[in-house]
Amino acid sequence: MSNPVNVARTWDLSGYFPRFDGPEFSAFKAALRHDVAGHLKHASLLAPLSDQTLLAWRDEIIAFEDVSARLGHLSSYIGCLAAADAASEAYRAEEAALSSLAAEVEKFRGELLRAVHHAPAALLTEFEAAPGMEGAGFFLRRLRQEAGLRMSTAEETLAADLAIDGLHAWGRLYDTLTGKMTFEMAWPDGRRETLPMSQRRSLMANQDRAVRKAAFDGGNTVWAAHEDTLAAALNGIAGTRHTLNRRRGIGHFLDGSLFDAAVSRRTIDAMFAAIHAQAALPRRILHLMGRLQGTQGIAWYDQEAPMQLPPQPPVNWEQACAMVDRAFSEHYPAIGDYFEDLLIKRWAESEKRPNKRPGAFCTGSELVREQRVYMTYNDTMNDVVTLAHEVGHAFHSHVLRTTRPLATSYPMTLAETASNFGEMLLIHGLLREPGLTPGQRAFLLDCEVGRAPSYLLNITARFEFERAFYEERAAGEVPVSRLRTLMSEAQFRTFGDALESGGDDPYFWASKLHFFISGLSFYNYPYTFGYLLSHALFAQFRREGPDFLPKYEAFLRRTGSATCEDAVREALGRDITQPEFWAEAIHAIEHPLKELEALLPSLVGTR
Ligand SMILES: [Zn+2]
Repeated sequence: MSNPVNVARTWDLSGYFPRFDGPEFSAFKAALRHDVAGHLKHASLLAPLSDQTLLAWRDEIIAFEDVSARLGHLSSYIGCLAAADAASEAYRAEEAALSSLAAEVEKFRGELLRAVHHAPAALLTEFEAAPGMEGAGFFLRRLRQEAGLRMSTAEETLAADLAIDGLHAWGRLYDTLTGKMTFEMAWPDGRRETLPMSQRRSLMANQDRAVRKAAFDGGNTVWAAHEDTLAAALNGIAGTRHTLNRRRGIGHFLDGSLFDAAVSRRTIDAMFAAIHAQAALPRRILHLMGRLQGTQGIAWYDQEAPMQLPPQPPVNWEQACAMVDRAFSEHYPAIGDYFEDLLIKRWAESEKRPNKRPGAFCTGSELVREQRVYMTYNDTMNDVVTLAHEVGHAFHSHVLRTTRPLATSYPMTLAETASNFGEMLLIHGLLREPGLTPGQRAFLLDCEVGRAPSYLLNITARFEFERAFYEERAAGEVPVSRLRTLMSEAQFRTFGDALESGGDDPYFWASKLHFFISGLSFYNYPYTFGYLLSHALFAQFRREGPDFLPKYEAFLRRTGSATCEDAVREALGRDITQPEFWAEAIHAIEHPLKELEALLPSLVGTR
């Protein structure tokens, strides 16, 4: 860092409120509750959008933007406090109060949906052109689209009421059943132990293959014992969705998810076509893992096994900040400046202390346009990468700071682009520094390519299974034996010869919670999309150099006001509906993979 700046480990939240539970905080909450109630009442009395009600609805849209930004401000603040002090009952009580306020704002949004539901296109165009609506067009068009995917208000209310004891009850059944599940762990040394199912996943990430296999086998005995119950839950969730889709006039079971992701079917098809065509590349990483453990390919339970790298030297917080700053400032001065500013203002919480919630996140306020980064920094290189990731997110919000709040919420598909870009700036910056040991190089290369099998193969197999299951479910209940077959087929199709014979997991559909989320289907593919998009952007940055950066920022500014296709085409001049775009993104991992393949065997041999 050019000047030694404040590298405090705790954050300053006074940009939100002077203090928790002070008069400003109480007055803010009371005013927000009052305004939400007032607007909800007013909006519910308005007739749907017409020439007569156009200006009144314009005011309600602007009011909705205002209360949403204030709710976001409050929610970000309370989220920060609660994460940094998980033992506080006062913060937990605020979180509960916040969710009831959020439900009121959601009812207000329901009124906006009612307003535009049957609005003809010409009227909507007029609405978009009303004074005060500049930059809100995308929000309004999506509101209209969403309204078009709904039944009548009475039917939606009935569906929501029935869902409590139907659709969502299946999800709760899954949570309750699996939350109490235990399995028999047969340790390689002969010990037997009964463990909660929640520990299985970390055991399947153990260094020792025999431990991974024992956890896998012990777990699957239990999943098999419960397969009929779990199949009933899965069939119940999917069957309800099919029925609701038909009633809502939704043509395809993927449409709702694609709408949320702001992406077209054609783009997703192009992405998966490219992944299948280029699958040899991510499979090479699994073959490499197999060679290192002496097997032909890997088994399902080997996927989370750590690469056998020499231990990395510890990195303290000051060194971590200096590393991130160096890599950012040298290759992208604007994000380097932003990061220094963030440290000076104490917008990062990294201290290691008891009672902090686990994990890392970035949050912010559309009201004061400030961001905060949360993590628990443990002196590891992985934590340095996490810091770059979260600062990438924060920079995204910083770029959006002059955009109206209605045009700042971006879909899952675009959410991880800036964070992965931040990680890659760090990794590539460090890889160019002189004096790295081969072990450090291998670590950085593994950061860059090590996740490719999970994004490109594992998630693809999940998507293929879910799609095949929904297709068959449309004709009636899918028997449990068929679920196992569909699961194994999807695994072998995507992993190919990288999965050893008998190395599939026919019960993955049962053990993966994502398939049982009652509020949403096809949870995973936006992550693959974001992973590949950020690789494509970074490859373009490496080709074009600094000229690329204004385009990158133009892209970030568009993430909340355009479909994925439009945002990428307008800002970067690329067409994501074509498989070539995705193939190029996948190929970006080839060069680092080659280097890793050359480095690893010697490193592992000399340990
Ligand atoms: Zn992230």
